[in-house]
Amino acid sequence: MTGRAVIGKIRDMIGSRVYKKLSVLALLLGAICAVLFNACSDRNEGKVIVIEKTKTYHRAECPKVNMAKTQFMTIAEAESAHCAPCRQCMPHEQ
Ligand SMILES: [Zn+2]
Repeated sequence: MTGRAVIGKIRDMIGSRVYKKLSVLALLLGAICAVLFNACSDRNEGKVIVIEKTKTYHRAECPKVNMAKTQFMTIAEAESAHCAPCRQCMPHEQ
């Protein structure tokens, strides 16, 4: 009985240590994911959504981009492709 109790205690100790290590790892992973996510969203910053059919470019939140074939690009790229800014969402004005 006492032997089993000791093994149980040791198992609990190892278990809680592993658990602590795992939670630290999870925190680290979370931090890394947050950094990666920010890097990704930074890459899309300053980009507009171009609707190929109407040759117009829009902000991501513009309702017009939902119903068309779209493409991500910078405002400079959109303008060099002869696209006009949308009058509804005004993507050229920050
Ligand atoms: Zn728009």
